[in-house]
Amino acid sequence: MDLLQYNVSYLPREIGFNNTSSICWFNALLQALLSCTQLTEVMIEQSDKFTNNYMALAYIDLARKLRSGADISPNASSELLALFIKQCSRLNITPMEFTASCVDEALTLFVQAINNPYIDRLFCTKYVGSLTCEKCKKNTRAKFDVIITRTSTEKPFADAADLAAYMRAHATRCEQYVCDCGNKNINIPRAELLTMVSEIVAVSFDRRYLNSCNSIVPLTLAIRARGGKMIHYKLVSTVNHGGGHYIAYGFRAGESYFRCNDNYVEQCEYKTDNTVFIAFYSFVELKNE
Ligand SMILES: [Zn+2]
Repeated sequence: MDLLQYNVSYLPREIGFNNTSSICWFNALLQALLSCTQLTEVMIEQSDKFTNNYMALAYIDLARKLRSGADISPNASSELLALFIKQCSRLNITPMEFTASCVDEALTLFVQAINNPYIDRLFCTKYVGSLTCEKCKKNTRAKFDVIITRTSTEKPFADAADLAAYMRAHATRCEQYVCDCGNKNINIPRAELLTMVSEIVAVSFDRRYLNSCNSIVPLTLAIRARGGKMIHYKLVSTVNHGGGHYIAYGFRAGESYFRCNDNYVEQCEYKTDNTVFIAFYSFVELKNE
């Protein structure tokens, strides 16, 4: 296994984005993604593969300018969102409305809309599990992958080990698996085995219990791999939801931590915050333990 490491030289400088029309959810998602250095690194590496994907090209342009210090329009986020919506309809992947209530689904769609196998791989968490089709009721044991690990528990995770143990053995909704009958609405009562994690692990906390299940968001995450090795991650950003509004926290150039609330971007200390809706973890190192 060869994973690309978190690399501070790909952290962007800090910038706020205008909230032109109730797009705080997209501003927050974008700010959180910009802290995922592997995404920036691979997007820049793959830039010649995106000739017709204007959304991907706009993301690369933004990421480059955020590193170089070039001028950036405060409307860059709303322009990217418009291209994102166009790209989704071009690829025929718009099973949702773009509203504030589905930032987790928007993340999955954003990765799909980038439409590049190297980017898919950065976010891919693979499981083997028992699946039940809600339509034909068929049970099957199959491999599936997720871009977001969704928790469905009210109880907070005690620490990083507790979260890792949960990821290994609990159900998460999958987007990619399609039943033989054509149904995509698949229930996964139990994920039996976590078979692969990747550079970026996105965990979304159950929105029904947002003030309890996320009261402890571990700063690190370590997942056991084959051969007695541990895969170590660090928290790089979060998308937070409170009072009908989304903001993000994340690392920026110099590894300082910022609170990004539309146009208002300010340096802050990390603190546990039970408004975290999605936490992004970035691969740091593989260690023998
Ligand atoms: Zn079915």
